[in-house]
Amino acid sequence: MTEFRVGRGHDGPARLGEYIMGTEVFETPLLTGPNISRERMLQYGTLGRDPSNSRPTIAALPFGMELEEIDKAGLGNFDSILLPSLISFSSLDDQTSVLTLRHQLDTIDEIKETVDPSRLIVRIPENIDIDVFKSYIDDFHSKGIRAAAFMFDGYLGSTDLDSIILRSNLPASWLAVAMGKISPSTVPLLYYTGFDVIDTGYAYETAANGVRLWRNDSEHIETGKQQRFCSCSHCESIAEAKHSDLNEILQNHNLDVYESILSESVHAMKSGRLRWLVESMTHVSPNQASIQRQVDKQIYSFIEEFTPTTGADNVPLIGPESYNSPAVKRYRDFLEVRYTPPEGKQIVLLLPCSAKKPYSDSKSHRRFSETIESALGRASGRVAQVILTSPLGIVPRELERIFPAANYDIPVTGDWDAEETSLGAEALITYLNKLDPSCTVVAHVSGGYLGIVKAAESKVSQSIIYTTPETSATSWESRQALQETLVDLKGVLQLKDAPLKQLEEIVRATADFQFGKGAGNILVPKNAKVGGKPYRQIVCRIDKEQICSFIADTGLLSLTLSGAKLIAPLNRYWVRLDAPIVKGGSIFAVGIKEADSSIRPGDEVIVLNNQDEVIAVGRSEMSGREMCELKRGRAVSVRHKVEV
Ligand SMILES: [Zn+2]
Repeated sequence: MTEFRVGRGHDGPARLGEYIMGTEVFETPLLTGPNISRERMLQYGTLGRDPSNSRPTIAALPFGMELEEIDKAGLGNFDSILLPSLISFSSLDDQTSVLTLRHQLDTIDEIKETVDPSRLIVRIPENIDIDVFKSYIDDFHSKGIRAAAFMFDGYLGSTDLDSIILRSNLPASWLAVAMGKISPSTVPLLYYTGFDVIDTGYAYETAANGVRLWRNDSEHIETGKQQRFCSCSHCESIAEAKHSDLNEILQNHNLDVYESILSESVHAMKSGRLRWLVESMTHVSPNQASIQRQVDKQIYSFIEEFTPTTGADNVPLIGPESYNSPAVKRYRDFLEVRYTPPEGKQIVLLLPCSAKKPYSDSKSHRRFSETIESALGRASGRVAQVILTSPLGIVPRELERIFPAANYDIPVTGDWDAEETSLGAEALITYLNKLDPSCTVVAHVSGGYLGIVKAAESKVSQSIIYTTPETSATSWESRQALQETLVDLKGVLQLKDAPLKQLEEIVRATADFQFGKGAGNILVPKNAKVGGKPYRQIVCRIDKEQICSFIADTGLLSLTLSGAKLIAPLNRYWVRLDAPIVKGGSIFAVGIKEADSSIRPGDEVIVLNNQDEVIAVGRSEMSGREMCELKRGRAVSVRHKVEV
C-alpha cells in the first residue's frame, strides 16, 4: 500500500508528512533523483530502462508500454508509478495537454487491476487551463489517485509559475512532486508553496558538465584554475581529481547542497521563519524576485490559508517582498474590516513606532504615556493612541500585542519608500474614517511618519495638529510641545474625565480582530468585569462567570465554554463533529464533518457536535479546508470541553 500522510506544522502551504511505500517510510519534504543511494532521498528511473533497486522508487512508465510488459520490466511491489506523458511537455498546446490527462485516465483504467491507484502519480502538463485541470483532478481523485507531478524548466518564468499555480489547486491530501530543472535556490520557494517531493536531477546534469552548485550560484570547475573553497569532504581532493573522478565528486557535492538547503527550509518552517527564508532568496536573481512577486500576487489566498495566525517571536520584515506577505497583509485586512476604535475618544494621538516590541515596553513609549498622563490627568481615557509603522500601516495601542505587531522587526532608518507611505496612509485614512469627524488628530511624528500623515490629510474629515515638524518625536523639546498641545486641547475641547479603560479596550479589540466584528461587544459587554495586567493576562467575567482571557505572550484570547457559547451565533471559527461529545484532548481530522473555511492554523476555534451544541474550545492545528479534506492528523488541540 502507498499512502501520503500529512503531518503537523505549517508556515504557508509547506508541511511535514510521510510518504509510505510498503514497508518503507520516507519523511517529506523529500528529495528525489536518479541512481540515488542516499538514505534520505527517493530514487526515480524509467521502467525497463534504468536498473531496479531494492528500495521502492518512482518508476516512470514509458509511453505505449503494454500491461504485460510492466510486470516483466521489473516493477517493484511498492514502487510508485509516474504515469506516461505523450511527448516532452514544453511543446504541448492546450489541446494536447488535455489529451495527456485523458491518456493517463485511460492508463489508470487499464492497469488498476494489477496496480493499486494509490501508487500512481499523475503528470500535470504545465500549460493546461486551470479550470480544465480542476475538473480533471476530480476524476483522478475519484479513481483513488493521491499524487501529482508538476514540471519545472528552471527559468523561473511562466512555465515554473504555472506549475506552482496549478499545484495550489490540488486537494490538501495529495502529494505534490516538483520534477525537472530545479536549482538549489528555488528549493525554499517550492517547499513554501507546498511541494513535498523535489527533483535533484539538475545536480547530476550540472556535475556532468563540470559545474559545482552552490546555494545561490554555480561554478565551472576547470583544472589548473583557482577554485572556491569548499568545506565538504567530497571536495577535499577536487584540486588533484582526475577528470574521470570529477563527475562523482561534483554529484556528491551538489546533492549535499540540495540536502542542506532543504534541511534549512524545514528548520525555518518549524520555527515560523520559512517566509523570511523565502524572502531572503529573492536576492539571488531578478528571476527569483519576479517569480516570488507573481506567486504572492496570483496565489495569495492559497498561501494565506495555510499561514498560522501566531508565529515566531521575531519576524524580520526587510524588503518589499514583506509588504504583502500573508501575515502582514492579513493584519492590514483584518484591521480594515474587523477593527472598531474604542468609544468616547476625542483626541487621536499619532505616534512613531519603536524598535522594541510591544511598543509600550520601549523607553520612548513609556515617556509618551507619562506626557499624556501629566497633560490630561483623569481625562487621559479620551485619547486614542495609534502607532504608525511599516509595513503594517498602523497599530492601535489596544492591538500592540497581536501577531505580528508584537513580533516584527524592520530596519529603522526613518526613510519610507512610496509603497510603504501609501500603505500607511491608506490604513490611517480607513482608521480615521471610523471615528467621529469632531475628533482632533494630534500628529506627534516626524520624518517618514510625517509623510504618511500628510498623504492622508486631504482624505480625512478631522483636523490635524502637528507637534514636531522639525525635530524627532522623542526629543525633550517635542515632548514638551506635545504636553502643551494636549493641555490646550483639554481646555478647548472641555474634556470630561474618562478613566483609562485599557484592559477592556485590549480584550474588546482583540476579540473583534480574532473572531470578527461584533465579537468584542458580546464578550466584553458594559457589565463585564475585566481584571489583570496587560503585559501578563487579562480575565473577563460576566456575572462572575469567566468568559475569556487575554494572554499577552500570544496577544490572543482564549475562550471558556461560556465564552464560546456567547459568540457561537456569529457563526465563525466553528468546527462541526460527527459525534455527540469530544473524547480525549485532541480532535482529529477524521472525526470532523465540516469546518469554517476561514480557520487558519493557530486560531481559537469553537467545537460543535452533531446537534450544533458547543462542546469544546481549542486551538486549530490546521486550516479549515484541511480539516475537511484530510483523513488524518490532529486538527484541534482541545482546551475546555463539556464533561459527561
Ligand atoms: Zn564540496
